[in-house]
Amino acid sequence: MQESPKQEQEICVQCGFCCDGTLFSHATLQPGERVNLPPKLEQHYVQYDTGDYFKQPCAYFAGCCTIYDQPRLHICSSFRCQLLRNVEAQTMLPSQAVQTVRDMVQLRANIYQLYRQIFGQGAPADFISLRDTVAEVAQALPADDPARDDINRLALKCIMLNYWLTKTFKPSRPENQPEKVIC
Ligand code: SF4
Ligand code: SF4
Repeated sequence: MQESPKQEQEICVQCGFCCDGTLFSHATLQPGERVNLPPKLEQHYVQYDTGDYFKQPCAYFAGCCTIYDQPRLHICSSFRCQLLRNVEAQTMLPSQAVQTVRDMVQLRANIYQLYRQIFGQGAPADFISLRDTVAEVAQALPADDPARDDINRLALKCIMLNYWLTKTFKPSRPENQPEKVIC
């Protein structure tokens, strides 16, 4: 198991976006990993033309990885988001990275709060599902619907957060590296 530097762990422990369905809907399995998946990942296994995956939010994520001490899948031990890469490259201070994560967490919390205010019920557990749900509702709304302005405002916030998440966390990967996860 690859150990992350301590400063990276301090950033990740406040985040979890790459495991909780905020950034990705699926995680990639390497050839041969399917045969020995932890039980909850086996339950969320899917196969597409592009390969083998397990769905996210990860069933082992509960504020942090709950199987961190077990032998890990390649994707779990190797993935490092662009934020961590920036810290490693010293183009961003660890304290700036922590603040960035906090800002994104706050933005996401604001979106969930607004969702509950508008719909009066709990939102989908993961941000990708919430984002897609809001976009579908906004698109289907009649022009004279009284909730239209509120829902459009929520949809706009989701688009903004998605933009910042992509810009901040998704690796601008070199072409010779396999894609890690899809969304
Ligand atoms: S998205 Fe980046 S900072 Fe957040 S938990 Fe994953 S690797 Fe860590
Ligand atoms: S097993 Fe752990 S590190 Fe891997 S996706 Fe799930 S929560 Fe994240």
